[in-house]
Amino acid sequence: MTIDETPSGRPPSSAHEIERYGGLFAKRTRGMTSSAMRDMMAVTARPEVISLATGLPDTTTFPAEDFAWLMSRVAVDSSAAALQYGPTDGLDDVRRCIVEVMAAEGTEVEIDDLMVTTGGQQVIDLVCRAFLDPGDVVVAEAPTYPGAVPCFNSFQAQVAQIEMDEHGMRIDVLEETLARLKREGRTPKFIYTIPNFQNPGGVTMSEERRRALVRIAAEQELVILEDNPYGLLRYEGDPLPTLYSLDGGRYVIYLGTFSKILSAGLRLGWAAAPKPILERLNLGKQAADLCSSPLNQYFVSAYFQHRDWRTYLKQLRSIYRRRRDVMFAAMEEFFPAETTWTEPQGGLFLWAKLPDYIDTTDLLARALRENVAFVPGRAAYLDGRGGSEMRLNFSGVNEEEIREGIRRIGKVIAEQVAL
Ligand code: PMP
Repeated sequence: MTIDETPSGRPPSSAHEIERYGGLFAKRTRGMTSSAMRDMMAVTARPEVISLATGLPDTTTFPAEDFAWLMSRVAVDSSAAALQYGPTDGLDDVRRCIVEVMAAEGTEVEIDDLMVTTGGQQVIDLVCRAFLDPGDVVVAEAPTYPGAVPCFNSFQAQVAQIEMDEHGMRIDVLEETLARLKREGRTPKFIYTIPNFQNPGGVTMSEERRRALVRIAAEQELVILEDNPYGLLRYEGDPLPTLYSLDGGRYVIYLGTFSKILSAGLRLGWAAAPKPILERLNLGKQAADLCSSPLNQYFVSAYFQHRDWRTYLKQLRSIYRRRRDVMFAAMEEFFPAETTWTEPQGGLFLWAKLPDYIDTTDLLARALRENVAFVPGRAAYLDGRGGSEMRLNFSGVNEEEIREGIRRIGKVIAEQVAL
């Protein structure tokens, strides 16, 4: 779906209206696409729809009194600064909180290696701005984060997608792809990967592959963009080292976010990167938004000072673990036997593969009539693959709704199978 067809949330412009500005839009906007999840937010916001589509963290668990009290602390203690512009790299206090969060995953970082951003999403955008000329190659997983697809498209990147198996990105396929690109005289600008509980695949990259990936990047002098919003949402198994820690700060840009451990509404994330890269990202951010909301940064800093973020995280983990297990059980019960799905040890999503003759984009239209939504697989590929696949989220609705949502999807699949 192109942006010309469906600007999210608004009725589409007529061809006549578009024509008026047609010659003025930059060429690069022709390839711009709308994110499948953003398009769906208007539909899934309807109260009768059970959304297993968007990756919404459950913010109802954050106590309203705490929120009010912390905001009043910000107002009393720091109102002048909180209402002012702040430094582009972010407040030192918040960067100190980030050092603490990354240490909880065993990653050592200093505040000078960090930049606060407007959500982790902005890191993807800033990295694209800093590295991509039209036609440049980016390597990503197949499937990849559907929210990164519009970013790659808007910078006119060519994306080589590398298959995954249960251990994450296939290093043998990566090596073949890099060799082929080399023969064609092309070097990818960066390798984009989500090593933990991959969105959307639900797969975690093994330690062996992590080490291999970091070694390849160093040998071939390639940059890696490690996108890690979910690392701390682990429900079982042992944590694995981040690529950033394995690399020692040379070729890896790390993306983190407060969205999944505290609040997505704050729109605060961060990048940790080698200094020359951080400087370029900083220039891009100056152009994009000057700085991320100081008001929200003061909130984070007050939260870390007065509350125990680990306790809240523990609570989230136990809620999501139960929801995930309810989803597994409901899928066993309601999905046809030919369906397969990943069994993530953490994160918010699983990835299901239906029989080949089922098209999940068509299926979504039927599912929406039953008031249930998921993300169809094609949104996670840049080349039209994924037609029989789907992403299912288990964090945004309660256990009862998950079971009911899966039952309804199972029903529309069964109807399709019977056709
Ligand atoms: N990367 C991945 C893999 C994600 O799943 C998300 C959120 N869905 C983001 C980045 C961006 O998150 P935010 O901007 O809220 O930090």
